[in-house]
Amino acid sequence: MPKAADHNPSGTHPKRRKTGTAMKTPTRTEKVHEALRQAIIEQQLSPGARLPEDMIGDSFGTSRTIAREALLRLSVEGLVDLMPNRGAFVANPTLDEGRDIFVVRRGLERMVVLQLAGNLNATQITELRRMLDDEEMAGARDEREAIRLAGEFHLRLAEMTGNKLLVRYLTETVSRCSLVLTIYGRPHSVDCGIDEHRQIIEALIAGQGDKAADLMDHHIEQVAGRALLESRKPKSVQDVLSSYASRLSQG
Ligand SMILES: [Zn+2]
Repeated sequence: MPKAADHNPSGTHPKRRKTGTAMKTPTRTEKVHEALRQAIIEQQLSPGARLPEDMIGDSFGTSRTIAREALLRLSVEGLVDLMPNRGAFVANPTLDEGRDIFVVRRGLERMVVLQLAGNLNATQITELRRMLDDEEMAGARDEREAIRLAGEFHLRLAEMTGNKLLVRYLTETVSRCSLVLTIYGRPHSVDCGIDEHRQIIEALIAGQGDKAADLMDHHIEQVAGRALLESRKPKSVQDVLSSYASRLSQG
């Protein structure tokens, strides 16, 4: 069975679906925010890199005010650090911080499935099954799409609880997890399986809350575990040398 991933260069932030309301066109701030978010999560902007407001404004053809607002939003999401008198920098979480973020995510995802177990209506069940089929199809032909859909799956579950605060916290946490995986995970790795998503959905439909929670727990642990454990392995001499060599060329 093809696998999709939560390790996610671009995936966690799909088009947001607001049930019951028409999709509004994004504001300029939202567009700049989203573009920067993608660039950070896809690691086109390196962790620790400085993000000057005027450069962002010039690049996107917007004012510094809009650049500042976008940076503020990214800092709330944990993707940007704002330093007083020094400006904005791409966040660079340590491995320990990365582990902490995954602990929080596991807790939030548990809450989501415990609330949904036995409470999904027919429309929601149809939608979730269709999402799983889409993930499976994408997994076979388009890795980026598969990764995006895998991220969307988690946020969509949260939205189905109808708890806006839970959606907000999970969205932020998933963004941070993506950054952590981008920094410490393997590039383009395949970390989470569609079969695991399917088992979770079947448990939810059967009203088995505890089972769904355990499956979700295991699922997130897998995603985090593989990426974060790997980075604890000692680096090869070649890796260490090339990293020092690149520091020399930067200095
Ligand atoms: Zn997943």
